[in-house]
Amino acid sequence: MNNDKTPVQSSKRWVVKIGSSLITNDGQGLNLTAIEAWMGEFAELRKQGYELILVSSGAVAEGMARLGWTQRPRTLHELQAAAAIGQMGLVQAYEQYLQKHGLHSAQILLTHEDLRDRKRYINARSTLTTLLDLGVIPVVNENDTVATDEIRFGDNDNLAALVANLISADQLIILTDQAGIYDKNPNEFKDAKLIESCSTNDRILDIVAGPSHHALGRGGMLTKVSAARRAERSGTSTIILSGKQSDVLLSVARGNYTGTTIMPAVEPLTARKQWIANQLKVVGSIQLDAGASNVIRSGRASLLPIGVTTVTGTFKRGDLVACTDDQGIEIARGLINYNADETNKILGKSTAEIEPTLGYIDEPELINRDNLALL
Ligand code: GLU
Repeated sequence: MNNDKTPVQSSKRWVVKIGSSLITNDGQGLNLTAIEAWMGEFAELRKQGYELILVSSGAVAEGMARLGWTQRPRTLHELQAAAAIGQMGLVQAYEQYLQKHGLHSAQILLTHEDLRDRKRYINARSTLTTLLDLGVIPVVNENDTVATDEIRFGDNDNLAALVANLISADQLIILTDQAGIYDKNPNEFKDAKLIESCSTNDRILDIVAGPSHHALGRGGMLTKVSAARRAERSGTSTIILSGKQSDVLLSVARGNYTGTTIMPAVEPLTARKQWIANQLKVVGSIQLDAGASNVIRSGRASLLPIGVTTVTGTFKRGDLVACTDDQGIEIARGLINYNADETNKILGKSTAEIEPTLGYIDEPELINRDNLALL
C-alpha cells in the first residue's frame, strides 16, 4: 500500500488578489499593519500545504505617497511613473513581512497580452510553478510601465483570473472592501442581500454586474464577475469577500467565512479543452505510436518525445500542435515545449536523451498534460 502523499497532490492552489483600496491607508501609503497580518496568514497557510500566489495592486497609491502627491494625477504617464516608484514599496513590504516567517517573495509583472501569447504563457507558467515548488510566494501586478488596463479599468481582477487559469488554481480569492456581491446596490438599498453562493451562469450575476447596478467604477463588481467567469475555464471557483475581517484567509481555509462564492458551471477539463481547442490556431502536427496514443487517450499523462514518430509543419515552442494516433486520427491538441526542429531531433528518444541530443533541456516532456486537450 502506498501512503505517500506528494506535496502537489495534497496541496491546494490559491490565487489571492488584493486591491488598492484595501492595501492603502487613505492616501497615506501602504497599510503595513494589514499587509503584515495577511502575510502572517500566508505563512500559516503555507505550513498547512497551500500553494499561494498573490496578485497585488497598490503601486500607484504607494508611489503617490512616496512622491508626496496628495491628488491622483490625471495623465497616464504620471500614473505609470507613480506605479514604477510605488512597486518598490509594495515588494519591499511583502518581502519584509514574509521574511519574518522564513519565506520569500518573487516579483512578477505581467500584462494580459503576455498571457495571450502562447510562448510567454508557457514561460510564465514554468516560472510560477517553479516558484511554487521552491516554496516562494509570487507577487504579481500589472506591468504598468507598458500596460494600462488596471490603471484604466481596475482590471487586476481579470489578471488574477488569468493567473488562476495559468496555474490551474483551485480557488481565486478576491479580497475587497465590501463583504461580497449583493443582489442590489447596498449603498442605495437597505434591503440589499449578500449573495452567498451562486454559479457562474446564474442570471443574478448579469444583473449585479450590469452598468446600472454599481457605479463603483474601476475595479467594481463588473470586473469581479468577469474574473469569476474567466477563472471557471480552469475549473477555479472564486470567492469575493472583505479583506478587512481578521484572519480572512484562514477563515476561508476553515470553510467558515462570509462572502460570495461563485462556483464554475462547467467541468474544468471541458473548459480547458475548449480554451485550447477554440482559441488557438493549430500550426503543426505530431504523430504518436500506438503505445503513446493509448497513454494520451487515458487523459492523465504528459506526452514524452519517446512516443512520437513523425513531425509535420513548422512550429515554435509554445505553439498549438495537433497530436494524431498511429492511424493519423487527431486525438489531442496541445501547447508544445520544443520547436519543430528540436522535436524532430528528440522524437523516439527518452527524456534522459534530450539534453545530450540538444545540448540543453527546457522541459522533461514534449507537451505537459496541463497543456494537452483530448478531443
Ligand atoms: N497596477 C496599478 C497599481 O498596482 C494600478 C492601480 C491604480 O490604478 O490605482 O497600483
